[in-house]
Amino acid sequence: MAQPVLMAVDNDRDILTTMQRDLSRRFAADYRIVTADTPDAALADLDADDHVAVVIAGQWLTDTTGVDFLSACHQLYPDAKRLLLVSHGDYVAGTAAVRAIALGQLDQALNKPWGDPELELYPAVSELLSQQRRNAVVAGTRPEVVRIVGPQWSARSHQLRDLLTRNSVLHGFYDVATPEGRQLLERAGVAPGDHPVVLLFDGRVLVDPQNELLAEALGVQTKPASSRYDLAVVGGGPAGLTAAMYAASEGLTTALLEREAVGGQAGTTSLIRNYLGFPRGISGRELASRAVEQALVMGAELVFVRSVVGLETRGEDRLLILADGNQACSRTVVIATGVTYRRLNVPGVDELLGAGVFYGAAVTEATALEGKRAFVVGGANSAGQAAIHLARFVSHVTLLVRGPALSGRMSAYLINELERASNISVWLNTTVTRVQGRGRLEAIQVRDSTGQERTEPADGLFVLIGADPHSDWLADSVERDSQGFLLTDSDLAHWPTDRPPLPQETSTPGVFAAGDIRHGSVKRVASAVGEGASAIQQVHRYLAAS
Ligand SMILES: Cc1cc2nc3c(=O)[nH]c(=O)nc-3n(C[C@H](O)[C@H](O)[C@H](O)COP(=O)(O)OP(=O)(O)OC[C@H]3O[C@@H](n4cnc5c(N)ncnc54)[C@H](O)[C@@H]3O)c2cc1C
Repeated sequence: MAQPVLMAVDNDRDILTTMQRDLSRRFAADYRIVTADTPDAALADLDADDHVAVVIAGQWLTDTTGVDFLSACHQLYPDAKRLLLVSHGDYVAGTAAVRAIALGQLDQALNKPWGDPELELYPAVSELLSQQRRNAVVAGTRPEVVRIVGPQWSARSHQLRDLLTRNSVLHGFYDVATPEGRQLLERAGVAPGDHPVVLLFDGRVLVDPQNELLAEALGVQTKPASSRYDLAVVGGGPAGLTAAMYAASEGLTTALLEREAVGGQAGTTSLIRNYLGFPRGISGRELASRAVEQALVMGAELVFVRSVVGLETRGEDRLLILADGNQACSRTVVIATGVTYRRLNVPGVDELLGAGVFYGAAVTEATALEGKRAFVVGGANSAGQAAIHLARFVSHVTLLVRGPALSGRMSAYLINELERASNISVWLNTTVTRVQGRGRLEAIQVRDSTGQERTEPADGLFVLIGADPHSDWLADSVERDSQGFLLTDSDLAHWPTDRPPLPQETSTPGVFAAGDIRHGSVKRVASAVGEGASAIQQVHRYLAAS
């Protein structure tokens, strides 16, 4: 197979010569290095079946800019990572880089010249290559610990692949209708059928296994090992993982129960750009797997694929009822079960996620849209607040509301503010039907109350159409708000003891809430992490007093 390509384009000959020399020294054994002074010359040097891993471009190219060239490269080589070179002190190029990164048009920026390549160039290119390779793991191009053979379009085949992907288990999928798939089944001695078959690295064969069985076969802990814990954490997203890590590191016997995959909502995010300490962003899966390692090192017990379906109080203890009928007993509980954000299910959205389309208010992206045109989808307070925030930066914001009026779900003060703003429009009875763009958002298609569709140019689309909290299992045991978020401390209407509730404490003493599931929480990775950590402070206070 041909070597993958590292491609660099810059109209400064000295930079190109140094780039060719530095990249060759470190990467020539595994990659073909292509350098050229114009995009056309670089592209002419590639064969049709070349696999481009990283594209590097200076911002000021002949006839185009680096940002535009890198955006266009995304069409040609969707898997390639993109790095922009910016001259020291070039404020205009630096600003363009920051905006383009925020809009997902490129991945990183690097100052040129870079001096010692060990300090800046190699770490930047290596990081991009490893991100690129990690995606290749998902595509099954690396050694496979698990092979799934099943019908291509079976829902169960998809669920198993999703479970393994989200838990970072190296695996490959083989359609049972292909000769390769049939051959694997024949070797395993299984007749082809409608169910997916799981082939493990050590020769074991599982036919359509339950998630628990598959996890156990992979050596994952699926049952609580102790009869009583100081703390049980429900949910393995950023809030739960942080709570478990801090609790264990501070000497509490701790179990974390997660029903699907660690990382929660954050684990499904390809790049978290606004988490402190990661200026180039970090993938949700990477952050989750680092957090799991840290929690385990600190001594937390992680129990996987266990749904918690009930909470009971027995004297001083809290009992968590698991879906399989087992129980986990603990002196305290932190609930960090998060929410499911409602998705906009229209063509084009998934492809442009992070490249102009965002779930949530995405405050960081607002500045990148300065002078541009943004749309906000949603009719509740969060959508109104996002529109007002965006209006400070963009030339025009349009709020797209499915219903006939704003008054039902939005506070009066926000409606007044929207009406006063000269650069905000509200379109009622309007839905988004399609999202368009090549590499970045360019337009949206909307349908109005008459059923007519039209296309509107758009630079940013912010989707705030609500979230469903994972709290049904607590309906009888913990006080919730009208949407199902858990009420804590000063928001509680009922509190059963003489002492005041501790911060983050729910209506059941000793049971705390952290992260997205908590009423009034800020829906961000950093705030979930913060709440997970601060919940442990309250757990200590509770245990010390009891
Ligand atoms: C598409 C998308 C992009 C985002 N991008 C960003 C971003 O760039 N930056 C940012 O700061 N934030 C971002 N967010 C928001 C961020 O992901 C959340 O705020 C954060 O994950 C909340 O963490 P959490 O631990 O409270 O909940 P979650 O991450 O939702 O984790 C909850 C966990 O609890 C588990 N669970 C639920 N119920 C049960 C049960 N009964 N038993 C056992 N386990 C259970 C779930 O399986 C899940 O793993 C994004 C969200 C989405 C959807």
